[in-house]
Amino acid sequence: MPTPPIQLSQYDDGPSLAAATRIVDGSSPDALYAHVPFCRHKCHYCDFYSLVDQRDRTEPFADRFELEAETIRGSIDASKIRTAFVGGGTPTLLEPPLLARVLAAIRAIPEETLDEFTVEANPETVSEAIAATLVAGGVDRVSLGCQSFQPDLLKALERWHDPSCVPIAVQRLRDAGIGRISLDLIFGIPGSTIDDWDRDLDAVLALEPDHLSCYGLVFEPGTPLAEKQRLGRVDAIDDSIESAMYDRTRDRLAAEGFEHYEISNWARPGEECLHNLVYWQEGDWLAIGPAAAGNLGGIRYRNLPRLDDWLDGTGLSPVVNVDQPSAVVASGERLMLGLRLRRGIDRAVLDGLVTGHAERQAAVERHLQRGNLVWHENRLRIADRSIMLADDILSDLL
Ligand code: SF4
Repeated sequence: MPTPPIQLSQYDDGPSLAAATRIVDGSSPDALYAHVPFCRHKCHYCDFYSLVDQRDRTEPFADRFELEAETIRGSIDASKIRTAFVGGGTPTLLEPPLLARVLAAIRAIPEETLDEFTVEANPETVSEAIAATLVAGGVDRVSLGCQSFQPDLLKALERWHDPSCVPIAVQRLRDAGIGRISLDLIFGIPGSTIDDWDRDLDAVLALEPDHLSCYGLVFEPGTPLAEKQRLGRVDAIDDSIESAMYDRTRDRLAAEGFEHYEISNWARPGEECLHNLVYWQEGDWLAIGPAAAGNLGGIRYRNLPRLDDWLDGTGLSPVVNVDQPSAVVASGERLMLGLRLRRGIDRAVLDGLVTGHAERQAAVERHLQRGNLVWHENRLRIADRSIMLADDILSDLL
């Protein structure tokens, strides 16, 4: 018998285990996202849920994580799961035996061997033991947060690693047998110049990654960086410089043979992040761990973002922020996510997303006339010259 639609009014008053059960039970996710909420230090631009100085909680975390994973395993149809991603926080801050337990708990969920198993790592945490633990745990892809190779720019972000540890981490991962390495960079750091950005691109390309994520710095509300900006102690760089950095990224990475497949992501042919494609193509993914966000059966949710309360539980995590977008909102979001991908949206799919939505259709026409959107091989996409305006264009289409 089909499950009746979830009644959000039952669940919107704070953390709910009942909502978690209704969302997760019988679901059939394409992917798993696990969140490990420990960091050595809080970077000033970061608004992810992560805690510092919690070493005494890492073993209880692994105990609790295993219980949650086991409950999930008994509750879902795991036959479609093809990818898993462990993010944070800093998953590689766990001691190797604890990291091994977390990886084993994740691997026990899917019915089939995963097509892709990614773990996020900070360069300074990649010891030989961690690299070996990742490989033994079935991980085949590591996403390494470099952000910049220049000490003064890392300092501006309050990011605590020495750039010299990045090549060491990459080599350790490769020596251990990790075949796929993605590197993250941030452009638009206060005080940075185009020459700085060129140096960062030089440094990252010298490491020959398969995949690169290059994000413009965002002053997320509530972060220390946003507070410094409010107090006038730091200024965002000029929009024209940030645009020039992005253009430089596109030109240089294209010249190096990378495909620009999503607004902020470039890959060697065949090296796209399969897990993130699940997000961008509106697949279903299941969340494990405190503060992990999931999307199952058209319902978005977030596991309780409070470590102590999460540790107190035994099965599924209670969930918060349960949201079941209306059909109109969901189709608008499909449009938005589809346009984040550089290949854009097929004409027939687009018709289904705009037909009957006069304002949305008018917005598409308007941006086509302005040259912000273009047709390419029967697919609609954001014009190259307008990618820096993507946020404005996409919110207009919503
Ligand atoms: S290491 Fe990552 S998750 Fe941790 S504080 Fe820095 S940016 Fe946030």
